[in-house]
Amino acid sequence: MLKKFRFYKIRGLAWLLILILGLTAGCRVNSGHPGVMAGGAVEARSVMSFTVSTEDPASSRFQVVFRYEGVQGRDVELKMPAWSPGYYRILNFAANVEDFKAEDGNGRVLTWEKSSENTWKIKTGGTRVLKTSYKVVAKGQGVAESQLTEKRAYISPTGVFMFVAGRLNHPVRVTVRPHEKFTRISTGLAPVLDEENTFQAENFDELYDCPIYIGNQEVLTFNVAGLPYELAVEEPKDFNREETISVLKRMILAATGVVGEVPYNRYVFIMMGPGRGGLEHRNSMAVFSGLPRVEDRRSLQGWLSFIAHEFFHLYNVKAIRPVALGPFDYERENRTNMLWFSEGGTVYYEYLILKRAGFMNREEILNTLSRIIDRVENSPARKMESAAQASHRAWEEPFFGSEKTISYYDLGAVLTMLLDLKLRHETGAQRNLDDLMKLLYRRFYREQGRGFTDGEFRAACEEVAGTDLSEFFKYVYTTESIDYDKYLGYAGLKLEVTPGENGRRSYSIKLADEIDGSQLRLLNSWL
Ligand SMILES: [Zn+2]
Repeated sequence: MLKKFRFYKIRGLAWLLILILGLTAGCRVNSGHPGVMAGGAVEARSVMSFTVSTEDPASSRFQVVFRYEGVQGRDVELKMPAWSPGYYRILNFAANVEDFKAEDGNGRVLTWEKSSENTWKIKTGGTRVLKTSYKVVAKGQGVAESQLTEKRAYISPTGVFMFVAGRLNHPVRVTVRPHEKFTRISTGLAPVLDEENTFQAENFDELYDCPIYIGNQEVLTFNVAGLPYELAVEEPKDFNREETISVLKRMILAATGVVGEVPYNRYVFIMMGPGRGGLEHRNSMAVFSGLPRVEDRRSLQGWLSFIAHEFFHLYNVKAIRPVALGPFDYERENRTNMLWFSEGGTVYYEYLILKRAGFMNREEILNTLSRIIDRVENSPARKMESAAQASHRAWEEPFFGSEKTISYYDLGAVLTMLLDLKLRHETGAQRNLDDLMKLLYRRFYREQGRGFTDGEFRAACEEVAGTDLSEFFKYVYTTESIDYDKYLGYAGLKLEVTPGENGRRSYSIKLADEIDGSQLRLLNSWL
């Protein structure tokens, strides 16, 4: 809903200005898809559009054509992003580009040079219409990379669509030419009415946040609270459609209930068959995932916690986000100390969402949290780096920890649990982590349209707690040992530690020997 509102607001402003300029010049206003320049001035008839062909799967290459009308200046720099937001790794997508060509509106060849690893600098020769074409090698394996095979065309947009330097805010259209055997297109991009296989984005940030899946997927549609959802399944086979949708509906209600506002007007689940990994977006997710046997509780929990994780990211990291994570610099690392909260906090919410949706009970959650604590405390890197340091170094380290780096997913989930317990304890179980999420969403995303600094995040936590949280943030920024019994004790729980082999210890959350009324109230309010 917010997206739609902003879209019409910007387009409306552009049209108003064009109308004024057109009337001033005493000429007829051209129709088109106008661009708004920085500072609000209008570049009349400035249009950017891509055509991407997936017609030759045998080549494993997309053929891309970019048309830019309303070019100004002697040079245009086209840039290919170096990474995909959510996948914190430099992937150098420019290396997949082949056969780059540039011409003007009359088909005259324009000269160009590679002015950096990811920049194509074109001499315009004064043309107003620039047309470039290039191929993109699409042999990726993961969700942040593109693939073109006989089975699927998966467009990970940051690796396929170049942007004009300084013009990321420009509206853009994409027309897809599917291979003759592909019948469906699934994407969070808005379709352009009356133009087949054509989609539009308000700007390149939106384009880069919308993967496009082209293939023969089965598409199931359903509604939750009046909003439409699509479930695109690459390998449908014999899964229980009715039950899977029912499960998703319950997950969606629990997840959107945390903040209480839904910031999209449509959501698309892209399920690309078995494999590993998923990537979150504002109104879609692309995941490699088999489908669950819904009647098998463990199978369902494993699948649904993964899906709930990617889904909840539409709040935690896309909307509620550290200042470094949007708007993005697509050409280099965007570092933050706070992936422990953006990722680890999202892991923690997986289990709360499953509990609230009725798919996990208290014992199962405590067992899961025990296993996470066990991994953290037995990690050889536990005393080598803090959660904040691990977040900052994410770009160079294995995603899920190693001998030398602590997993900010695991440690972040543990820290977020401590924070939730602390907020509940300090407020007599009147407030909790959900209140913090609501505050961050409203204050920074809705009211200011930006992310928060480390200091602003801490101030928001202390505002909800109503007290100083120095001890908690010491756990975030140092490797100091955590006093688990103190925090778990707020809920009448304790951490049982048992020595094992080779110096390992096993950790398990248990009920404390004695529990009073306020502890029980807190435990019941929590799980
Ligand atoms: Zn994640």
